[in-house]
Amino acid sequence: ARSDGLEGQVSGARVIAQALKTQDVNYMFGIVGIPVTEIALAAQEVGIRYIGMRNEQAACYAASAVGYLTGRPGVCLVVSGPGLIHGLGGMANANMNCWPLIVIGGSSERSQETMGAFQEFPQVEACRLYSKFSARPSSIEAIPSIIEKAVRSSIYGRPGACYVDIPADFVNLQVNVNSIKYVECCMPPPVSMAETSAVRMAASVIRNAKQPLVIIGKGAAYAHAEESIRKLVEQCKLPFLPTPMGKGVIRDNHPNCVAAARSRALQFADVIVLLGARLNWILHFGLPPRYQPDVKFIQVDICAEELGNNVRPAVTLLGDINAVTKQLLEQFDKTPWQYPPESEWWKVLREKMKSNEALSKELASKKSLPMNYYTVFYHVQEQLPRDCFVVSEGANTMDIGRTVLQNYLPRHRLDAGTFGTMGVGLGFAIAAAIVAKDRNPGKRVICVEGDSAFGFSGMEVETICRYNLPIVLLVVNNNGIYQGFDTDSWKEMLKFGDATTVAPPMSLLPHSHYEHVMTAFGGKGYFVQTPEELQKSLRQSLADTTNPSLINIMIEPQATRKAQDFHWLTQSNL
Ligand code: ADP
Ligand code: MG
Repeated sequence: ARSDGLEGQVSGARVIAQALKTQDVNYMFGIVGIPVTEIALAAQEVGIRYIGMRNEQAACYAASAVGYLTGRPGVCLVVSGPGLIHGLGGMANANMNCWPLIVIGGSSERSQETMGAFQEFPQVEACRLYSKFSARPSSIEAIPSIIEKAVRSSIYGRPGACYVDIPADFVNLQVNVNSIKYVECCMPPPVSMAETSAVRMAASVIRNAKQPLVIIGKGAAYAHAEESIRKLVEQCKLPFLPTPMGKGVIRDNHPNCVAAARSRALQFADVIVLLGARLNWILHFGLPPRYQPDVKFIQVDICAEELGNNVRPAVTLLGDINAVTKQLLEQFDKTPWQYPPESEWWKVLREKMKSNEALSKELASKKSLPMNYYTVFYHVQEQLPRDCFVVSEGANTMDIGRTVLQNYLPRHRLDAGTFGTMGVGLGFAIAAAIVAKDRNPGKRVICVEGDSAFGFSGMEVETICRYNLPIVLLVVNNNGIYQGFDTDSWKEMLKFGDATTVAPPMSLLPHSHYEHVMTAFGGKGYFVQTPEELQKSLRQSLADTTNPSLINIMIEPQATRKAQDFHWLTQSNL
């Protein structure tokens, strides 16, 4: 018997934790404080891992990455008011990316509502714009069913973010154990298939294509459709192009991958099989001049409302990508067909790939110092373990890095995504490292950051060191946003006035020693200026399987990407 008179009682915090665990939710990221500290403690008690972060935004990014990587939502736990508001950035990012996420926010006491309570804010309303579902349980007894609904909503249909609001007075309230009924773990999402007639029509459109292309998006990665998509591509001998996070669904070095001829492939394809990618800015809306005006899209998506956005598709296949791709495969099993490998289209694509690859190699081989982006990524690619997670953000750092750094496995690239969010990198890297620790011990996480991007969540380096996550952080440092100044020009400039009046808004402090952020917390730090130093520090960082490291790589402050066919192609992801 308990001495505190709480025999047979259970706290609201414990009910929340148990309800989450019952729904097979296993990771919680957050920052504790009034009124949610007890929820984090209770989570640990029921066997949920709790990772304390330094900013709710980064915690929310991390939780959402867990959802993408495991298919089961992670939780972001935040305090009321400002805590929740900091988390909104992560919620919006998750929802835009179609990634499952549960945000649990403490809120002020119900009895003080509208009175100007501590950190009072209309949280349920605030979250509605960034989520699929946003609610406050009416009582402690209602918590298990609300949490089941939140988890289910986050993974059914198009995945996304869900919010559960917990008033402060719920957290420590004790109720009779017998009054709580936990709801059974929700079933995995039901698998939906496309209409047979539409599948037949799609197969016939593909068979008649003169210049076909398969586009593989992060929806395909999330759907675990890698096996069936690879079969379709190989069996029909189709060229394919991954979107930034579709990279790795089929390995980047597959002979059918035409990523190095991306613009050309998009511009001249006459039939495009779109597997889990939206025709948004990343894919130039599917419109001319980046595409043929009469290109036939075969659009595969789980979300009916997505079908027909910006372009009227030739065929719409509403359903789960894996299931629908298998349906397509059945058609090609019945009547085998393959796209002729000797076609003019393949020749055009191969030639363009060759010349683009030669150009990158040439830039990479430049011996001048400071290094350019291509030289840096060439040396990084040389040493990357094939099975590692690559997290990346920044402007040129992310865009150029994507073309050089290869992915060989699905769901192993995480970047700024649909929303183009800067500051996601460290949260994503922490999530990947935590998941890897549980599921693939020894697997490495490489986080490639621009110097500006690093600044958004830089203090999460302390989190990395606290949990001893052997992440290799690369800061590709050009002293600025898009570009910066070298030290001499910076000093010269300051002769003309105060930095607030003369410094270009793009510039950051030149020659910053970001590696000290890592050494401050006990990790390894390297400052590198030459290819040899880069090679050596990277070798040491990868050999060290217990400590995190940060390699601060100085590059030419005015370095940019190579000339593009489309001269306005200067923005992220294009
Ligand atoms: P990318 O950034 O790679 O272009 P998007 O995030 O724009 O990808 O698109 C992903 C699409 O995948 C979304 O429209 C989403 O509805 C869809 N999707 C997610 N999961 C599935 C699934 N299991 N089956 C089919 N479509 C899915
Ligand atoms: Mg920069």
